[in-house]
Amino acid sequence: MLSLVASVAEMTGLRDRDEVGQSICGLLYDLIGPHELTFWHVLSVDGVPRALRTIHLGKTDGVISDSQDECEDSMPVDACPSLHACVSRKTVHVARDDLHGSDLFFPVLGKRGVLGVLEVRTSNSWNPGDTALVERLLQIYSNHLALLDYGELDGLTGLMNRKAFDDHFSQLIDEQRRLAAQRGVADLDRTCWLALVDVDHFKSINDRFGHLLGDEVLALGARLMQKSFRRVDRLFRCGGEEFAIMLHDLTAEEAEQILEHFRTNYAAFPFPQVETVTASLGFTRLSLTDNLPTAFGRADRALYYSKQNGRNRVSCYDDLLAAGLLDEKNVALNDVELF
Ligand code: GH3
Ligand code: MG
Ligand code: MG
Repeated sequence: MLSLVASVAEMTGLRDRDEVGQSICGLLYDLIGPHELTFWHVLSVDGVPRALRTIHLGKTDGVISDSQDECEDSMPVDACPSLHACVSRKTVHVARDDLHGSDLFFPVLGKRGVLGVLEVRTSNSWNPGDTALVERLLQIYSNHLALLDYGELDGLTGLMNRKAFDDHFSQLIDEQRRLAAQRGVADLDRTCWLALVDVDHFKSINDRFGHLLGDEVLALGARLMQKSFRRVDRLFRCGGEEFAIMLHDLTAEEAEQILEHFRTNYAAFPFPQVETVTASLGFTRLSLTDNLPTAFGRADRALYYSKQNGRNRVSCYDDLLAAGLLDEKNVALNDVELF
């Protein structure tokens, strides 16, 4: 009992959603000792619910998968009748199989519907009392996620807010330093990147079509961001019509490609009434000595370059510097206006 309470206390102290998910699954796995435990993240793609397997714990492997492409790696919820039953009824669904035992599907409910499904496949005879235990623990999990959302999410776009940006940036650099210390030498090829996105001529959209439509452009653009980037990449609304993306573990070419792809998708998206809206981007490679003002300052200079050179383009600070198109200057705290 004490160890259960200790595990729950530990879980509710975590701030990273993926870590919270791993913690609750580990706790349940230890507690009920199922044969296999799978967590399905439920997402909506063009209004169609899809399920992405994010955590799998079993006797033979303990894989925790980090999907690079949610759309590609996920499957329609309809493809699995038991998942579908659980998601559509929002209640526990039990599939029995006389040969292999039971397969139980527990929904994790959030404000906007089913956030995920925990699948427990057990070859042991299932103790009915465990159903209520799992349900209650999942309720604590979803309450904790709701609190995280409340503190970290931007109300209009659903992306993480400015405060979360500061926290996640520090966490990212700390994590990179820890990994570099473990590996001995930092891998200079694949690294993390900070990109800034600023909607072009947004003031004129507000002026011509009104503030409400401006809000809709921001919300739709944010949804496009969620579709264009991977699960591991973190998306933030820094303020107004400005967004930030922390990209993980990419080469310079890959980072450029993924950002270019987003820029072209954005420019091609048929926004209501306004039709064409474009965005400018600037990005920079993150180093172990970075702090938010230094990294932000470099990405902001690259963004400014995009704005000065026709907008609707992606510029990389490091490339501009190498090409002599920007000079290196110390971006001290006071030089950067952080909103
Ligand atoms: P540029 O291409 O140089 O970025 O020009 P811009 O017009 O996008 O930039 P500017 O900074 O001049 O204007 C940004 C506008 O964004 C001004 C502000 O009223 C508007 N804005 C800020 N937050 C919101 C919001 O939450 N909703 C709406 N609708 N407008 C917002
Ligand atoms: Mg701006
Ligand atoms: Mg702008």
